[in-house]
Amino acid sequence: MIEFGEEIVTAQLLSGNRRVLARVISKIENDDPSSDAILGVIASQIGSGYRIGITGPPGAGKSTLTSKLALSLSKMGHHVAILAVDPTSPFSGGALLGDRVRMNEIFTDPNIFIRSMATRGSLGGLAEKASEVSDVMEAAGFDRILIETVGVGQSELDVAKAADTTLVVLVPESGDSIQAMKAGLMEIADVFVMNKSDRPESEKAAESLRSTLGFRDHDETTWIPEVIPTSANSGKGIDEVLHQIERHRTFLSDRNLLESKRQRRHELWIREKIGRKLSERFWSVENETELKRLFFEKKNKYEIVSTLLNSE
Ligand code: GDP
Repeated sequence: MIEFGEEIVTAQLLSGNRRVLARVISKIENDDPSSDAILGVIASQIGSGYRIGITGPPGAGKSTLTSKLALSLSKMGHHVAILAVDPTSPFSGGALLGDRVRMNEIFTDPNIFIRSMATRGSLGGLAEKASEVSDVMEAAGFDRILIETVGVGQSELDVAKAADTTLVVLVPESGDSIQAMKAGLMEIADVFVMNKSDRPESEKAAESLRSTLGFRDHDETTWIPEVIPTSANSGKGIDEVLHQIERHRTFLSDRNLLESKRQRRHELWIREKIGRKLSERFWSVENETELKRLFFEKKNKYEIVSTLLNSE
């Protein structure tokens, strides 16, 4: 149920109040019970925004690229929110994105909102929360959400692939593509960005990635990711990346795939949310005590699980 105070917060959020947006994001991060009520109300207001995931190995140039993409989108008239997800950072609440450098321009652009998010201690719920934060950003009027993840761990891949279009940023260093394949990045990419193309080996690396992609099974209904060379520092290739994102968006919507993709995303969110809520409910003081007691009685782990579940 939504309380009176939350009703005001929700109205302010929907009118685009950034201070309120920042507060609601903190509520989501901190698992504040009022966030569920707010999210429930805004749910009917979202769906028109577009989410772009940006991932890849550390140092590939993701934050530089994200900033440049945001500036270009802003110039095109979009309202852009950047969500930098960093599960390794102990900071949250809009801390200065670790020690990574952001251009001043994006902080002063009135059409860009930037926020970093970290989860306290555990990695659980990262994709779930990133999706909720994106929802409130969209409700606050941002029509392009750039979700940048810092590493390539499983939870970050989950975050990145929850976007409508996912960019995988690589650099020409030898073996980077092979590492990407191992890390599961190949499967989630809708667009490959070969950044630091100012480096000499760049074209060769892009070509080898293209030929790897050509070997994958495909027919006319399969989206084939392009490999786009960029130099995020200088801005070279940014327009082409934006063009590819738009091409992918059209591809999805022309084939009615966007809706089904989003439904799958909602389903994953529902499963993650329910799993977490049930787990929290299960680990009551009584069950925690019972767990210790069963260990004390020298029960094995299988007996413990079965006893705990049956005592529910
Ligand atoms: P992230 O860890 O993937 O977010 O990478 P950053 O955006 O922080 O970039 C890492 C480093 O690479 C920084 O020093 C950037 O200035 C540099 N960098 C980013 N893009 C390029 C590029 O296109 N060419 C070159 N030579 N350096 C770049």
